[in-house]
Amino acid sequence: MEDCIFCKIIKGELPAVKLYEDDLVLAFMDISPINYGHALVIPKDHHTGATSIPEDVSGRMFKVATKIGVAAKRTLDYDGFNLHLSDGTCAGQVVMHAHLHVVPRGVEDNFHWNWRHVEYSDNGEESMCEIAEKILSKLKI
Ligand code: 5GP
Ligand code: ZN
Repeated sequence: MEDCIFCKIIKGELPAVKLYEDDLVLAFMDISPINYGHALVIPKDHHTGATSIPEDVSGRMFKVATKIGVAAKRTLDYDGFNLHLSDGTCAGQVVMHAHLHVVPRGVEDNFHWNWRHVEYSDNGEESMCEIAEKILSKLKI
């Protein structure tokens, strides 16, 4: 992908502060962090979203991300971390090369995910079971 900034980072055409690299994945510091130490783990091959990433690569991404989260906790005095992947523009994805965020978290870091909560109805199309049945009808693992 010629115009992809993360492919350019992989090829060394754009600079990045790297944390880890192997044949499948690259991890580097996010240029505009939520907290200090915020990192990104990306597949070396270009995948726009999560769904086309092979299992060995996504498994490696998760493993590397958790290890970076633990290392950040131990060295930067954090209490935990979030792993986050946005798949699609509507989900907040800006860079269209799939990436797993590692966001180190502290109990008093004053950052809050903007969660909201919708309610299921007891019956009808919005019931939890109805929704689950729709998902199950297309779920192939
Ligand atoms: P998204 O919103 O797509 O899930 O996240 C994209 C992330 O990539 C953002 O957190 C942003 O700060 C980071 N980012 C965008 N451009 C660059 C860059 O050129 N270098 C680095 N290191 N991070 C970038
Ligand atoms: Zn790319």
